[in-house]
Amino acid sequence: MNAIYCRVSTELQAEIGYSISDQIRTCHEHAAKLGLETSSCSEYIDDGYSGEYLERPALDRLRDDLHNKKITNVIVYDPDRLSRNLTNQLLLADEIEKLNTKLYFVTGSYDASPEGRLFFSIRGAISAFEKAKIRERTLRGKRAKARSGKMIQKTRAYGYDWDDVNSTYSINQTEAAVVHMIYELYLSKKVTIKEIAIFLRQQNITNQQGKPFTLSMIYRILTDEKYAGTKWSFNKYEKKISQYKRKRIARPKEDWIPIPISPIVTIDQFQKVRQILTENKRKSPRNTKHEYLLRNFLKCSVCGYSLSAHSKKHSSGKEYTWYKCNSGGSDLSLAPCGNPSISSLEIDEIVWKHLCAIIKNNKQQCLISFPNEATSKTDKIKVIQNHQSELKKKRTTILRWFNEGMLTSKDAEKELNRLKEDLQRISDSLTKLSSNPTTQIDLEAFFAARSFIERRTIIEKLGWKFYIDHRMIPMKISIKI
Ligand SMILES: [Zn+2]
Repeated sequence: MNAIYCRVSTELQAEIGYSISDQIRTCHEHAAKLGLETSSCSEYIDDGYSGEYLERPALDRLRDDLHNKKITNVIVYDPDRLSRNLTNQLLLADEIEKLNTKLYFVTGSYDASPEGRLFFSIRGAISAFEKAKIRERTLRGKRAKARSGKMIQKTRAYGYDWDDVNSTYSINQTEAAVVHMIYELYLSKKVTIKEIAIFLRQQNITNQQGKPFTLSMIYRILTDEKYAGTKWSFNKYEKKISQYKRKRIARPKEDWIPIPISPIVTIDQFQKVRQILTENKRKSPRNTKHEYLLRNFLKCSVCGYSLSAHSKKHSSGKEYTWYKCNSGGSDLSLAPCGNPSISSLEIDEIVWKHLCAIIKNNKQQCLISFPNEATSKTDKIKVIQNHQSELKKKRTTILRWFNEGMLTSKDAEKELNRLKEDLQRISDSLTKLSSNPTTQIDLEAFFAARSFIERRTIIEKLGWKFYIDHRMIPMKISIKI
């Protein structure tokens, strides 16, 4: 069977030559010109879909039929109809050809021959192309799995066992009874999460690892909708936020795929808990903003845990703010280390003075460098090294193509020479970066910093960790860069 694929996005609807009927007509004419059987042509039409994304109903159907070996030729008006970006055009062209199907464009402006595509690939698309291909395939498979009501991957959850056959959760009666009890306690007895944790501990009830329930575990049980029968998938995705860091980011609600699972509590119970939690959050004193100079940068030298910032309003109306070692803090499974909590105003001042003294002493030699600068330098080196290995991979690919006869010796030589130049440039910049002296601290800005914002900016820029031991007087402070 031959296939005709047509697409028009809403905004292009009116443009002459791009209308669906024009596309269908010219595709049929082209098929006849190629000597293809036109009476058995199937039409796949995406009317009003952007070419930016590969998720389109007719395209999905076409790809399914291609995989089911129903199609021998695909005719498309031009590559833009397949996709708006080059990577996805290459991906689809590659997919179609790998399934022994021929792809034809009416306009002929795109060279579908191996040489033509090779040309595009060499011009920097190789890595993006491969990545997109793998990602698209996995995502497509995963979405289909989720839509069929199956979980994408095996995960553990308190209250459930894993049902490997159906790829879903099955209720673990013993644990489900505990989940039930947590909801009951929270709803009917109006106890706090901490009181529930203490109660569970008294009853010797532990989590799946045999450890006592932490406050955050109980909070998660009370707020996770799966306990009311809906497990959400595709609600988050990972985004690269820097060269080496990834962050989980929420997707828009309409992209979420619900997977129905056996509920442990009723929807009514779940919603009531949510109401109470929202109400408590609104009233919480934690919503007041305080100025903690060292928040996220203080560490306990006794146990190595971070110190977290806290505040409380006294009955007199006075606000107290302090830092406290996280061992034995809100997490009941840990024993306190003995480092007492400390007023935030006091320690912020002490540490700032300590920092001033250190920097003053080093002023002459200018030994201190901004660690962030140093990190960004290592980051830069890593980026360059990655680029370098990409280019080396590219060189191997070109040689392989040449050996397989896909590239003429003239073209291969041209590409290899260009790569050689790029590699030389990279190796030069690497040598330059590694031998660079450390950057000096901006002393003027440092000593001029008076306001909270100015000082906090410096603390954040430094990124140093301040380890404190407050068990003796005077307290000990050490800095880890
Ligand atoms: Zn500690």
